[in-house]
Amino acid sequence: MAPVRNARVVFNEVPAPNTFPEPGKTTVYDDSETIDPDTVPLNGGFLVKVLVLSIDPYMRGRMREPHLKPRIYASFRTHNTFTNFAVGRVLRSEHSAVKAGDHIYGHMPFQEYAVFADPAYLGSDVFRVLENKECLPWSAYVGVCGMPGATAHHAWHEFAHAKPGDTVFVTSAAGPVGSTVVQLAKAGGLKVIASAGSDEKVAFVKSLGADVAFNYKTGDTRAVLAREGGIDIFWDNVGGETLEAALDAAKRFARFIECGMISAYNAEGYAPKNLTLIVGKEIRLSGFIVGSLYHKYRDQFYKEIPALVAAGQIKYTEDKSVGLEAAGEAIVAVQKGTNTGKKVIVVADE
Ligand code: NDP
Repeated sequence: MAPVRNARVVFNEVPAPNTFPEPGKTTVYDDSETIDPDTVPLNGGFLVKVLVLSIDPYMRGRMREPHLKPRIYASFRTHNTFTNFAVGRVLRSEHSAVKAGDHIYGHMPFQEYAVFADPAYLGSDVFRVLENKECLPWSAYVGVCGMPGATAHHAWHEFAHAKPGDTVFVTSAAGPVGSTVVQLAKAGGLKVIASAGSDEKVAFVKSLGADVAFNYKTGDTRAVLAREGGIDIFWDNVGGETLEAALDAAKRFARFIECGMISAYNAEGYAPKNLTLIVGKEIRLSGFIVGSLYHKYRDQFYKEIPALVAAGQIKYTEDKSVGLEAAGEAIVAVQKGTNTGKKVIVVADE
């Protein structure tokens, strides 16, 4: 085969603090490279055609000067290709762990084709050859059956200590993390209060069975929480003023699952003024990074969740963009909330 285009998306420039990334400035689409899939050396590794890439909120935290903040995740390196969770198909392999035709899940570059020759890649926490007995779309494996779904599943099991009849408040409830939490909570017999940023998202959350769903941009979070009674569990994807409102509405011994604080990813964060309530109400606050829970829950997750999704017992929505050219806009959409479901980039068909 003659060489083919091997387009990629480059992290071009660190955005200024408290600003959104800018397509064309932060992210640059580059279609100047080529690859010959038949002859590119594998050096004991394997060649993957990238099919679908995940766009996640945490990517904003990786777009920073490496020395600035404590490192939870490695910073993206400027002028290098972005990487994130993805599904790809193995085209050629010299490695015994994968064979041509396998579909794999792992961290992949924002590029059409990639060679993986580093043995550490196969040993990474997220790498997996996907069986997909349920015949789900591959995109599901970067969303409800991928890292975001695992975030909801693992942390719910680890930190919620949920009992039937408890009340949970879930924020960013229409996204892949929040919507999975809503459904796990309903399956466990809880009362679910859920917030999201548009009427369309609220309608989706209601369709999942949330008892109370509201648009926090047009409604008053404090008024809803006051009306619906105290909360036993708070699933926090947002932080800031919402966390402050949840602390006021919390019951004694409430569990706060601190999953994300997106209100502070692109802006100066708002610091809640009522943190002393954590002491008086004896609230258990659990911050976590999902990777720390993989070893405990991953096998259970892959056994349970794809089957529930295939059976329609766990529902999900996707917001697909086609082609790597769309990645810059997609990254911003997730930060601003203009995405209408799990944001994915479809890089190629089978
Ligand atoms: P989503 O697809 O739901 O996208 C993020 C959503 O956040 C937006 O769609 C928007 O929804 C909402 N949002 C954006 N800006 C604001 C703001 N200023 N105030 C309130 N809401 C805002 O994302 P995910 O489901 O993938 O992730 C949800 C959360 O979980 C994020 O905070 C993420 O960082 C966190 N996370 C944490 C992990 C961990 O290991 N701890 C792992 C994975 C995710 P809306 O329109 O409803 O406002």
